[in-house]
Amino acid sequence: MMTEKEYVGRFAPSPTGPLHFGSLVAALGSCVDARARGGRWLLRMEDIDEPRCSSSAADDILRALVACGFEWDGPVMVQSRRKDRYREILEELKRAGHVYPCACTRRELADSTLAPDGAPIYPGTCRSGLPVGTLPRAWRLRVDETPVCFDDEIQGRYCQHLAQEIGDFVLLRADGHFAYQLAVVVDDTDLGVSHVVRGADLLDSTPRQIFLQRRLGLPTPAYAHLPVAVNAVGEKLSKQTRAVAIDSAEPVPAMFDALTFLGQRPPPDLRRSTMADFWAWAIANWDIAKVPRARTLPASAAVFAPAAIAGNADRQAHDTVGQPAGGAQEQ
Ligand SMILES: [Zn+2]
Repeated sequence: MMTEKEYVGRFAPSPTGPLHFGSLVAALGSCVDARARGGRWLLRMEDIDEPRCSSSAADDILRALVACGFEWDGPVMVQSRRKDRYREILEELKRAGHVYPCACTRRELADSTLAPDGAPIYPGTCRSGLPVGTLPRAWRLRVDETPVCFDDEIQGRYCQHLAQEIGDFVLLRADGHFAYQLAVVVDDTDLGVSHVVRGADLLDSTPRQIFLQRRLGLPTPAYAHLPVAVNAVGEKLSKQTRAVAIDSAEPVPAMFDALTFLGQRPPPDLRRSTMADFWAWAIANWDIAKVPRARTLPASAAVFAPAAIAGNADRQAHDTVGQPAGGAQEQ
């Protein structure tokens, strides 16, 4: 008898550069968690922030994933092809009175207090109507005073008071692009995603996504936020921070390091094993409870000295590791 609902996981990279160690960690964590629990695993290209994305980067990521032995279920969802769907949902929110137009410019909001992701906390300027003589630039979702809390499978209970910490947030940006927060909620729902396993740089975004799910009457998936790989000065690995591309010709050592980064304890021999043996071990031995309860961890320790992390049995030691980098999208 099936009592648990079907597990559907996903990996949702932004095609802004090649697959690097940081994105490999998120890919591996989400995929292995899905497969270990008998679930499906889907792939989505988060190219909603189009100016920063390229189709060649998307192709590079797909090729690298194939080289690493990832097998996703079904077609790849591509956000830039789904604007009509996002527009439909925005119209639904307009009809329900949950969103309102905002005329504020970036400069006008520059003096506002900053939210955890570095964006200004919206002071509510246009909440009860556009100021006289202004034109709508963006659309914002009206938040309320109730804290939004959830139990993250790795990071524990997390609460955010949206009105005080974020303010009414943008769903359609002034540049005409739909905001990541809207796209991710609509996409995960349309794909039937039950478990979101992704980098902890998105922990701060999750209450906004849960709030939007509730406004739309949608179910909330389970969340597990993996530690994010950072460089020596605490910056998230990315093209900008010169993260190197995964070696597609010989990816098993990097995958071994990614698995070690996630607190698993693969036997040293696995670093030189075949792809098939690596995957078989990773899925059979996956234990999400072993993933360090940290929002960031230095990548160098995992890449160059896996023993330093494998030998650290004390989860508490990871709790105080720095703040996440301020990226607003998935790796
Ligand atoms: Zn405004």
